[in-house]
Amino acid sequence: MFNRIRFKSDEDIELIKRSSLLVGKTLAEVAKHILPGVPLKFLDKIGEEFIRDHGGTPSFKGYEGFPSALCLSLNDVVVHGIPNMTVLEDGDILSVDCGVYMNGYHGDYAYTFAVGNISEDKRLLIERTKNSLYKGIDVAKVGNTTGHIGAAVQNYVEQFGYGVVRELCGHGIGKELHEKPDVCNYGRPGDGPRLQTGMVICIEPMITMGKRKITCDHDGWTMRTADHKPAAHFEHQVAFTTHGTEILSTYKYIAEVLGSEEKY
Ligand code: MG
Ligand code: MG
Repeated sequence: MFNRIRFKSDEDIELIKRSSLLVGKTLAEVAKHILPGVPLKFLDKIGEEFIRDHGGTPSFKGYEGFPSALCLSLNDVVVHGIPNMTVLEDGDILSVDCGVYMNGYHGDYAYTFAVGNISEDKRLLIERTKNSLYKGIDVAKVGNTTGHIGAAVQNYVEQFGYGVVRELCGHGIGKELHEKPDVCNYGRPGDGPRLQTGMVICIEPMITMGKRKITCDHDGWTMRTADHKPAAHFEHQVAFTTHGTEILSTYKYIAEVLGSEEKY
């Protein structure tokens, strides 16, 4: 993690957008296979092959020793789940986080999927976590601070009694997967660095159905809710260009696979 914010030109941002586009198409390819009976490792294989076949490199594989192309976080796993031979079951929820490195820049975003038929409370958790991401994006504009984003996410989800994970935050992105500033999902408007033209950030609410406390498994990666209640995770990449705020990532390709309507 670099300690200074690295500002990007509109040309740099175009390149980040290309990496981001491949993330979106990879998530959609993986989405086709999110079905009961499918092992997590298989989804990771599909994702990695798709990234490499389209000229990218998986950003996460080898990052600080992370072993896989995708982070696959099932049910009570919040983020950083390592794909293993666990088989998806009807009623599960699965966060798929994908990173692509291409042309010197990283793309990184995530979506939480339903596996088969899920309970109403899980459906609401997913829907509201996604909504909270857009609440954050709504206030992501030059002149506001990262605290505006955190407050928007937090205020929205806490009304439902959900928890906002504190240990992990969104981040800047560019030549490095994780750059400054930290973009936390809690806080107050005015807290944190001011958003400025040339910044590219990942906003990624990690929301728990129960208490917000999380623990890390012995593998050193898997972040799980302490009360084992489910968690959801959505992530978009947002740039502040000379033309204003632009969402570089899109759920359009996922929506085509799911047959759903997506705002972005
Ligand atoms: Mg991220
Ligand atoms: Mg991510």
